[in-house]
Amino acid sequence: MDVVQSPGDLSPSLPEHLWRGVREAARLLRQARRAVALTGAGISTPSGVPDFRSPETGLWRHVDPLLVASIWAFRVSPRAFFDWMRPLARTLLEARPNPAHEALARLEEAGLLRAVITQNIDGLHQKAGSRTVLELHGHIRTATCTRCYRTYPSDTFLPAYLEAGEVPRCGCGGILKPDVILLGEDLPREAYQQAVHEARTCDLMLVAGTSLEVAPASDLPFLAQRRGAPVIVVNLDPTPLDPLATVVLHADVALVLPTLAGLALSPEGATEEPGPR
Ligand code: ZN
Repeated sequence: MDVVQSPGDLSPSLPEHLWRGVREAARLLRQARRAVALTGAGISTPSGVPDFRSPETGLWRHVDPLLVASIWAFRVSPRAFFDWMRPLARTLLEARPNPAHEALARLEEAGLLRAVITQNIDGLHQKAGSRTVLELHGHIRTATCTRCYRTYPSDTFLPAYLEAGEVPRCGCGGILKPDVILLGEDLPREAYQQAVHEARTCDLMLVAGTSLEVAPASDLPFLAQRRGAPVIVVNLDPTPLDPLATVVLHADVALVLPTLAGLALSPEGATEEPGPR
């Protein structure tokens, strides 16, 4: 028996009240020439990655972040940092992209998305196939010596760290710090400047899986909005941007983004109006 594929089939469980917004978002995406996405922890939680930075949830519930994951704590006790980070590192390495990451990669591949600006350090956008990824909070692919600034691929020290808890060290004896941004550190200059440029010049911003609580990443969609770019928000919880956004969808990104991409990329586009009206 033939199964007729409509874009709606990509996510049959999308609740009815979301269809109107998703269709409007798809229409905006098809019209845009310089669309960019901004993503946060919410796009990786469906992949099993806990929220890394949110002060109230996720990893911070049982620990004061300033005592383990700030640059000051790292300098005083790298051992405490690496012990705390060890189970998280394992989770990050084992995580696989979910349909939301894949949807953004498909949009980029088709020319409907210029870049993904992310607050995540898990590298899941790249694993899903995204090419232009601006990582505002760094990543776990490399680590840099705190004494001589030599950079090492994480593969070189991960086995001894993950299996035996060994604190990674440089050939010079200095301690290696993963190239993630700890509390109290500046954002990577190049990624941040490029993200600001994208926010200022985009003609649509898709905000996905972030409650926009951590500055300065949270300022980026406001930069876009002030310059007249429509903003689409897909997030479980309300965000401070909601009143200014063109489309707001309070829902799971792993549910919404595949449908949105399917609609935006289907030949009939948003005109065919699949799904409930
Ligand atoms: Zn060194």
